[in-house]
Amino acid sequence: MSSKGRVRECVDAVAARLGVLRWLRHRAAGGATVLMYHRVLPEADVGRYFQGLALTPRVFEDQVRWLVRHFTVMPVREAWSCLNRGGALPSKPIVSISFDDGYRDNFDVAAATLERHGLRGTFFVTTDFVLEGRMFWFDVAAAAWRKNPDAFARVLSDVLGKVVHAGEIGTLDEMVGRLKRLEGGVRAGVIDRLERELGPFQPGELDRPMDAEMLRTLHRRGHEIGSHTLTHPMLPQLDDARLRAECADSKARLEECLGAPVVGLCYPNGSVDSRVRNAAKAAGYEYACTTRPGLNRSDVDALLLHRNHASAESVTDARGGHHGPSFAAVVVGFHALAHACARGLKRRGRASVLSR
Ligand SMILES: [Zn+2]
Repeated sequence: MSSKGRVRECVDAVAARLGVLRWLRHRAAGGATVLMYHRVLPEADVGRYFQGLALTPRVFEDQVRWLVRHFTVMPVREAWSCLNRGGALPSKPIVSISFDDGYRDNFDVAAATLERHGLRGTFFVTTDFVLEGRMFWFDVAAAAWRKNPDAFARVLSDVLGKVVHAGEIGTLDEMVGRLKRLEGGVRAGVIDRLERELGPFQPGELDRPMDAEMLRTLHRRGHEIGSHTLTHPMLPQLDDARLRAECADSKARLEECLGAPVVGLCYPNGSVDSRVRNAAKAAGYEYACTTRPGLNRSDVDALLLHRNHASAESVTDARGGHHGPSFAAVVVGFHALAHACARGLKRRGRASVLSR
């Protein structure tokens, strides 16, 4: 574990000892907290996936046990209608557990864990992935990069028009981060070329999607299914027609699959601006989730709900196990608060240097 991780563990433990986390938990009773997850994978696979996005089944189970003791757990749709209708909220603060993307482990492990504890979650799925079995562009990039880093670098060089050596690409996360920053059309060009020259690629054991029957099973068991668009694009980069299709068609396809309304959307990568927010509203969503941390109170914009990310590096201990105070710190918003304070102090520091 990095020294930054050890400092975080200590700070969280002190905050717990001083009662700060308990105080924040009481404050959370005035609203609804939404947690963001992606994958629950066997220990051997956690390191093969994107950094921080996968937890082990044991850590997830420990977290669920803690949530059951301290929170009222419900899908996002129910949490939002609790907030929206006014009146008294449950005495234990509301928390929702949401999973993005639609990978198979969400069904096999995450939903099964929740059900063992009598809980229900919200699963935001990308329809091309779960209904058509089409791999995400970032999984295609990862597969191509693992298969042949030199050929990957050559394709990148050709499309970008400048020489990129395999050694400069860095880690899996740095590579995908670099592709994310490209304009949408250019990124699609890179992925097309990778598919043609190094593919075709099929979802492997690590990146298999859920299927339509699994979605129907989750829905029957009381979990919520929400949309995570058709293809997981950066929505602000799209033209109006494409943006409309990503929001509205994914909703329609899921409703057809489930035979029930789909009212929630989750913006891929948390990328949202006012045009995207309005497109979500026009498509008929009652709520939509961002990746901005915070507590949702009744006056929050329902199409810009906050979510707290239970990322592996912020909630686990040095051995990758459950770290109670750190998980509590993420759930009650202590980490987000600490980061906001640090940013504020930095800004004030810069302002006072400039005013000298
Ligand atoms: Zn996603």
